[in-house]
Amino acid sequence: MIDQVIQFLKSAQYIMALTGAGISTESGIPDYRSKGIGLWEKVDPAEMASISYMLSNPKEFFEFNIRQWSKYMDVEPNITHRVLAAMEKAGYLHGVITQNIDNLHYKAGSKNLFEVHGHLRTAHCINCAEKYNFKELVMQFSEGINPPRCTCGCLIRPDVVLFGDPMCSDFYRALEQVKKCDLLIVVGSSLQVYPVAELPLYCEKFVIINQEPTPLDDRAEVVIHNTAGKVFDSIAHKLNLYY
Ligand code: NAD
Repeated sequence: MIDQVIQFLKSAQYIMALTGAGISTESGIPDYRSKGIGLWEKVDPAEMASISYMLSNPKEFFEFNIRQWSKYMDVEPNITHRVLAAMEKAGYLHGVITQNIDNLHYKAGSKNLFEVHGHLRTAHCINCAEKYNFKELVMQFSEGINPPRCTCGCLIRPDVVLFGDPMCSDFYRALEQVKKCDLLIVVGSSLQVYPVAELPLYCEKFVIINQEPTPLDDRAEVVIHNTAGKVFDSIAHKLNLYY
Protein backbone atom coordinates (compact mmCIF):
# COMPACT_ATOMS: atom_id res chain seq x y z
CA MET A 1 0.00 0.00 0.00
CA ILE A 2 2.94 2.33 0.63
CA ASP A 3 4.06 1.67 -2.95
CA GLN A 4 0.67 2.78 -4.18
CA VAL A 5 0.99 6.00 -2.14
CA ILE A 6 4.46 6.54 -3.69
CA GLN A 7 2.96 6.07 -7.15
CA PHE A 8 0.28 8.69 -6.35
CA LEU A 9 2.94 11.06 -4.95
CA LYS A 10 4.92 10.78 -8.18
CA SER A 11 1.97 11.22 -10.53
CA ALA A 12 -0.27 13.81 -8.81
CA GLN A 13 0.26 17.49 -9.63
CA TYR A 14 -1.06 19.32 -6.56
CA ILE A 15 -0.69 17.47 -3.28
CA MET A 16 -1.49 18.65 0.24
CA ALA A 17 -1.32 16.87 3.61
CA LEU A 18 -4.05 17.16 6.26
CA THR A 19 -2.82 16.29 9.75
CA GLY A 20 -4.41 15.81 13.16
CA ALA A 21 -3.46 15.16 16.77
CA GLY A 22 -2.32 11.59 15.91
CA ILE A 23 0.74 12.96 14.09
CA SER A 24 2.05 14.41 17.36
CA THR A 25 1.53 11.41 19.68
CA GLU A 26 4.99 10.14 18.70
CA SER A 27 6.36 13.46 20.02
CA GLY A 28 4.67 12.74 23.36
CA ILE A 29 1.50 14.86 23.02
CA PRO A 30 -1.67 12.86 23.72
CA ASP A 31 -4.42 13.06 21.10
CA TYR A 32 -8.14 13.19 21.94
CA ARG A 33 -9.50 9.87 20.74
CA SER A 34 -6.82 7.11 20.72
CA LYS A 35 -8.24 4.14 22.64
CA GLY A 36 -6.95 3.95 26.22
CA ILE A 37 -4.69 7.03 26.12
CA GLY A 38 -6.61 9.82 24.35
CA LEU A 39 -7.54 12.86 26.48
CA TRP A 40 -11.21 12.24 25.64
CA GLU A 41 -11.14 9.22 27.97
CA LYS A 42 -10.49 11.56 30.93
CA VAL A 43 -12.34 14.80 30.12
CA ASP A 44 -14.66 16.14 27.44
CA PRO A 45 -12.52 18.58 25.41
CA ALA A 46 -15.65 19.88 23.68
CA GLU A 47 -16.51 21.37 27.09
CA MET A 48 -13.10 22.04 28.67
CA ALA A 49 -11.66 23.67 25.53
CA SER A 50 -14.77 25.65 24.62
CA ILE A 51 -15.36 29.39 24.38
CA SER A 52 -18.38 29.10 26.70
CA TYR A 53 -16.26 27.43 29.42
CA MET A 54 -13.54 30.07 29.01
CA LEU A 55 -16.08 32.88 29.51
CA SER A 56 -18.09 31.25 32.31
CA ASN A 57 -15.24 29.60 34.28
CA PRO A 58 -12.04 31.42 33.24
CA LYS A 59 -9.98 30.26 36.24
CA GLU A 60 -10.81 26.57 35.69
CA PHE A 61 -10.43 26.96 31.91
CA PHE A 62 -6.87 28.27 32.24
CA GLU A 63 -6.04 25.90 35.10
CA PHE A 64 -6.83 22.93 32.83
CA ASN A 65 -5.73 24.21 29.42
CA ILE A 66 -2.55 26.16 30.25
CA ARG A 67 -1.22 23.11 32.07
CA GLN A 68 -1.79 21.05 28.88
CA TRP A 69 -0.65 23.68 26.41
CA SER A 70 2.48 24.78 28.24
CA LYS A 71 3.74 21.18 27.95
CA TYR A 72 3.64 21.55 24.14
CA MET A 73 6.21 24.35 24.22
CA ASP A 74 9.24 22.10 24.82
CA VAL A 75 8.16 19.26 22.52
CA GLU A 76 10.12 18.54 19.33
CA PRO A 77 8.82 17.50 15.88
CA ASN A 78 9.02 13.79 15.09
CA ILE A 79 9.85 11.85 11.89
CA THR A 80 6.47 12.55 10.30
CA HIS A 81 6.62 16.34 10.79
CA ARG A 82 10.17 16.34 9.41
CA VAL A 83 9.40 14.11 6.41
CA LEU A 84 6.39 16.28 5.47
CA ALA A 85 8.65 19.37 5.59
CA ALA A 86 11.24 17.54 3.44
CA MET A 87 8.53 16.49 0.97
CA GLU A 88 7.47 20.13 0.60
CA LYS A 89 11.07 21.23 0.09
CA ALA A 90 11.61 18.53 -2.54
CA GLY A 91 8.44 19.56 -4.42
CA TYR A 92 6.31 16.48 -3.63
CA LEU A 93 3.97 18.43 -1.40
CA HIS A 94 2.39 21.84 -1.92
CA GLY A 95 1.79 22.36 1.80
CA VAL A 96 0.34 21.14 5.08
CA ILE A 97 -3.09 21.76 6.60
CA THR A 98 -3.10 20.95 10.30
CA GLN A 99 -5.72 20.81 13.03
CA ASN A 100 -2.93 20.89 15.60
CA ILE A 101 -2.06 23.90 17.70
CA ASP A 102 1.29 22.53 18.90
CA ASN A 103 3.65 24.40 16.50
CA LEU A 104 5.39 21.17 15.47
CA HIS A 105 4.96 21.57 11.69
CA TYR A 106 6.20 25.14 12.08
CA LYS A 107 9.24 23.95 14.06
CA ALA A 108 9.91 21.18 11.50
CA GLY A 109 10.14 23.79 8.73
CA SER A 110 6.85 23.40 6.82
CA LYS A 111 6.44 26.68 4.91
CA ASN A 112 3.04 26.61 3.24
CA LEU A 113 1.25 25.87 6.50
CA PHE A 114 -2.46 26.28 7.25
CA GLU A 115 -3.15 26.04 10.98
CA VAL A 116 -6.92 25.74 10.80
CA HIS A 117 -7.42 25.63 14.58
CA GLY A 118 -4.86 28.36 15.26
CA HIS A 119 -1.57 27.96 17.15
CA LEU A 120 0.12 28.52 20.49
CA ARG A 121 2.56 31.25 19.44
CA THR A 122 0.40 34.31 20.05
CA ALA A 123 -2.58 35.51 22.09
CA HIS A 124 -4.82 38.56 22.28
CA CYS A 125 -6.99 40.51 24.70
CA ILE A 126 -10.71 39.72 24.27
CA ASN A 127 -11.54 43.38 24.95
CA CYS A 128 -8.99 45.67 23.28
CA ALA A 129 -7.39 43.05 20.94
CA GLU A 130 -3.87 43.95 22.17
CA LYS A 131 -1.49 41.24 20.88
CA TYR A 132 0.68 39.10 23.19
CA ASN A 133 3.15 36.29 22.91
CA PHE A 134 1.68 33.00 24.21
CA LYS A 135 4.61 32.84 26.65
CA GLU A 136 3.14 35.91 28.40
CA LEU A 137 0.08 33.83 29.37
CA VAL A 138 2.23 31.02 30.68
CA MET A 139 4.39 33.49 32.64
CA GLN A 140 1.40 35.24 34.22
CA PHE A 141 -0.18 31.88 35.08
CA SER A 142 3.04 30.64 36.71
CA GLU A 143 3.11 33.87 38.76
CA GLY A 144 -0.38 33.07 40.04
CA ILE A 145 -2.26 35.49 37.77
CA ASN A 146 -5.25 33.43 36.72
CA PRO A 147 -6.88 34.23 34.36
CA PRO A 148 -4.06 36.07 32.56
CA ARG A 149 -4.85 39.76 32.17
CA CYS A 150 -4.21 42.47 29.59
CA THR A 151 -3.04 45.93 30.71
CA CYS A 152 -6.68 47.02 30.12
CA GLY A 153 -7.75 44.51 32.80
CA CYS A 154 -9.51 42.05 30.50
CA LEU A 155 -8.71 38.44 29.79
CA ILE A 156 -5.99 37.38 27.33
CA ARG A 157 -6.72 34.26 25.31
CA PRO A 158 -4.47 32.25 22.98
CA ASP A 159 -4.99 32.46 19.21
CA VAL A 160 -6.50 28.98 18.98
CA VAL A 161 -9.95 28.03 17.72
CA LEU A 162 -11.91 26.78 20.73
CA PHE A 163 -15.03 24.62 20.47
CA GLY A 164 -17.82 27.12 19.72
CA ASP A 165 -15.49 29.68 18.07
CA PRO A 166 -15.89 30.59 14.38
CA MET A 167 -13.23 29.06 12.13
CA CYS A 168 -10.18 31.22 11.43
CA SER A 169 -9.12 32.54 8.00
CA ASP A 170 -6.59 29.70 7.57
CA PHE A 171 -9.50 27.26 7.36
CA TYR A 172 -11.08 29.05 4.38
CA ARG A 173 -7.69 29.37 2.67
CA ALA A 174 -7.10 25.65 3.29
CA LEU A 175 -10.48 24.81 1.76
CA GLU A 176 -9.46 26.64 -1.45
CA GLN A 177 -6.21 24.66 -1.50
CA VAL A 178 -8.00 21.34 -1.08
CA LYS A 179 -10.34 22.16 -3.98
CA LYS A 180 -7.26 22.56 -6.20
CA CYS A 181 -5.65 19.29 -5.06
CA ASP A 182 -5.59 16.07 -6.99
CA LEU A 183 -4.28 14.26 -3.90
CA LEU A 184 -4.75 14.83 -0.16
CA ILE A 185 -2.75 12.78 2.34
CA VAL A 186 -4.65 12.56 5.62
CA VAL A 187 -2.42 11.66 8.59
CA GLY A 188 -3.28 11.05 12.25
CA SER A 189 -6.85 12.31 12.35
CA SER A 190 -9.99 10.52 13.53
CA LEU A 191 -11.90 12.77 11.05
CA GLN A 192 -14.54 13.45 13.66
CA VAL A 193 -14.06 17.18 14.28
CA TYR A 194 -16.09 19.34 11.88
CA PRO A 195 -15.79 21.21 9.60
CA VAL A 196 -12.22 19.90 9.03
CA ALA A 197 -13.46 16.30 8.84
CA GLU A 198 -15.24 17.16 5.57
CA LEU A 199 -12.17 18.61 3.80
CA PRO A 200 -11.14 15.31 2.12
CA LEU A 201 -14.48 15.22 0.32
CA TYR A 202 -13.54 18.40 -1.60
CA CYS A 203 -10.46 16.74 -3.08
CA GLU A 204 -10.24 14.60 -6.20
CA LYS A 205 -8.72 11.69 -4.26
CA PHE A 206 -7.30 11.11 -0.81
CA VAL A 207 -5.35 8.53 1.16
CA ILE A 208 -5.63 7.97 4.92
CA ILE A 209 -2.74 7.02 7.20
CA ASN A 210 -4.14 6.52 10.70
CA GLN A 211 -3.77 3.95 13.46
CA GLU A 212 -7.50 3.39 13.85
CA PRO A 213 -10.38 3.33 11.32
CA THR A 214 -12.06 6.64 10.38
CA PRO A 215 -15.55 7.36 8.99
CA LEU A 216 -14.02 8.17 5.56
CA ASP A 217 -11.96 4.97 5.16
CA ASP A 218 -14.35 3.54 2.57
CA ARG A 219 -14.12 6.74 0.46
CA ALA A 220 -10.28 6.77 0.41
CA GLU A 221 -8.13 5.42 -2.47
CA VAL A 222 -5.70 3.86 0.03
CA VAL A 223 -6.02 3.32 3.80
CA ILE A 224 -3.01 2.43 5.95
CA HIS A 225 -3.72 1.55 9.58
CA ASN A 226 -0.27 1.97 11.09
CA THR A 227 1.77 4.51 13.02
CA ALA A 228 2.60 7.62 11.00
CA GLY A 229 6.29 7.43 11.98
CA LYS A 230 6.75 3.97 10.41
CA VAL A 231 4.87 4.90 7.25
CA PHE A 232 6.68 8.20 6.70
CA ASP A 233 10.08 6.69 7.44
CA SER A 234 9.36 4.23 4.65
CA ILE A 235 8.03 6.97 2.32
CA ALA A 236 11.18 9.05 2.92
CA HIS A 237 13.42 6.10 2.03
CA LYS A 238 11.46 5.31 -1.10
CA LEU A 239 11.62 8.95 -2.23
CA ASN A 240 15.31 9.31 -1.23
CA LEU A 241 14.51 12.18 1.10
CA TYR A 242 16.81 13.30 3.91
CA TYR A 243 15.01 14.63 6.96
P1 NAD B 1 -8.22 12.78 17.36
O1 NAD B 1 -7.64 12.66 18.73
O2 NAD B 1 -9.67 12.86 17.23
O3 NAD B 1 -7.72 11.53 16.50
C1 NAD B 1 -6.38 11.18 16.43
C2 NAD B 1 -6.27 9.95 15.55
O4 NAD B 1 -4.87 9.70 15.36
C3 NAD B 1 -6.87 8.69 16.17
O5 NAD B 1 -7.81 8.15 15.25
C4 NAD B 1 -5.67 7.75 16.39
O6 NAD B 1 -5.97 6.43 16.02
C5 NAD B 1 -4.64 8.31 15.43
N1 NAD B 1 -3.25 8.16 15.89
C6 NAD B 1 -2.76 8.31 17.14
N2 NAD B 1 -1.43 8.14 17.14
C7 NAD B 1 -1.08 7.86 15.86
C8 NAD B 1 0.15 7.59 15.20
N3 NAD B 1 1.30 7.55 15.88
N4 NAD B 1 0.14 7.36 13.87
C9 NAD B 1 -1.03 7.38 13.16
N5 NAD B 1 -2.23 7.64 13.73
C10 NAD B 1 -2.25 7.87 15.06
O7 NAD B 1 -7.49 14.01 16.63
P2 NAD B 1 -8.01 15.00 15.49
O8 NAD B 1 -8.71 14.25 14.43
O9 NAD B 1 -6.87 15.87 15.16
O10 NAD B 1 -9.13 15.89 16.18
C11 NAD B 1 -8.97 16.35 17.50
C12 NAD B 1 -8.87 17.84 17.71
O11 NAD B 1 -7.98 17.92 18.80
C13 NAD B 1 -8.24 18.66 16.65
O12 NAD B 1 -9.09 19.71 16.45
C14 NAD B 1 -6.94 19.22 17.25
O13 NAD B 1 -6.92 20.62 17.12
C15 NAD B 1 -7.07 18.97 18.73
N6 NAD B 1 -5.86 18.47 19.41
C16 NAD B 1 -4.65 18.91 19.02
C17 NAD B 1 -3.52 18.43 19.65
C18 NAD B 1 -2.18 18.95 19.19
O14 NAD B 1 -2.07 20.11 18.81
N7 NAD B 1 -1.15 18.11 19.19
C19 NAD B 1 -3.62 17.45 20.65
C20 NAD B 1 -4.90 17.02 21.03
C21 NAD B 1 -6.02 17.53 20.39
